Order: sequence, then C-alpha cells, then structure tokens
Amino acid sequence: MEFLKAKRLPDNGRVKRTFIKVDNEYYKSGDTISVRLEDNQSAYATIEKIWWNFDLCCGELLIRWFYRAIDLEIANYISFSEIELFDSDEKQIIEMEMIEEKILVLKYNDFVRTEDVEDVFFTRATFSPQLNKIVPSIDEWKRVCKCNKIFNPDEPYFTCPGCYSIYHNSCLGYSQDIDEVEIMCSKCRLIF
Ligand SMILES: [Zn+2]
Ligand SMILES: [Zn+2]
Repeated sequence: MEFLKAKRLPDNGRVKRTFIKVDNEYYKSGDTISVRLEDNQSAYATIEKIWWNFDLCCGELLIRWFYRAIDLEIANYISFSEIELFDSDEKQIIEMEMIEEKILVLKYNDFVRTEDVEDVFFTRATFSPQLNKIVPSIDEWKRVCKCNKIFNPDEPYFTCPGCYSIYHNSCLGYSQDIDEVEIMCSKCRLIF
C-alpha cells in the first residue's frame, strides 16, 4: 500500500497522506463531507489534512466544521435555509470511519446559476463561534425578487435564464410548481 512507502514521523506514528479511501471513495484535502456523529446525526465539514495513524491502524483527518442554521444560537431567522451551511474556523481530528459521504457545497453565485440543485448545499457566509457572529452579516446578504427578501431556496423560486435574477413563484403569480418552465423576468423579455 502506498502509505507504507511514505516516511514515518518518529514522534507520533502518523504519516501525512494526500488521500484516503473509505467505502470505495477517495477523499482528499479540500473535499466537503458529511460526518456521522455518535448520536447517528450527520454533520458537515471540509477536510484539511489526512494522516495514516500506525498506532491505531486507521486514517485520521483534520476537518473544519460547517455550522447549519439550526446549530446557531441566532437561528430561527426566516432567511436561513435548511440546505445552508456556514464555514467556520472550528477544527477537529476525526477517524476515517466517521466519514459518510462527499457532499457538494456551492457558493451562493454558483448555487443560483446551477439548474439541478438537488442534494446540494450552499454557503454565503461564515460563522465564528467565538464571536457568535455571521460574516458577512445578514444585512449585507443579497436580496431578491420584487419583494426584496433575502434569498431562501426553501421557498419556491425560479431563476431568470437571462440575468440570473431570482423571483418567487408566488410573487409573480405563478403556481408553486413551475420549476421546469423557463420564465424570463420582464427586463430580459424586452432584450431577448
Ligand atoms: Zn418575492
Ligand atoms: Zn432577467
């Protein structure tokens, strides 16, 4: 196996690795993953470093946690989405067995431009647990639609294919299930 060729660290029996294989999937630093917690709940994180631990005969990962809106004390804010994650500076070392699977976390701009957004998370802010603060603050978040609300993909919406502006179905008088229909906003309809 490749890790046996790597140079062993004398002090703690750990060897740095560029990737690790769990359940036939390769993981490397920078990958975003879901992690199985002791209570069988899932949490989400980014891989920062990977080691093989010779003493434990197991892979170990340094991960950086994402917070979900429900993890924040400032939760219950109407703008937070169930699929929204907040990157943090909170790190932890976990064993490879805790990895569940890779997840896709898109930045806000990529998320609103992606057509098939099933099983995808998005992120538009980071959270500092020490300061109990979201950066950028909610006042600075992008607002959408005629109603000028903060974007929340849990509400039915569509993206104008011309300018990527977001509108709520209900605000333009459409029924709640029109996602497949290509609808342009009134500005783009004048241009195209
Ligand atoms: Zn609206
Ligand atoms: Zn448009």
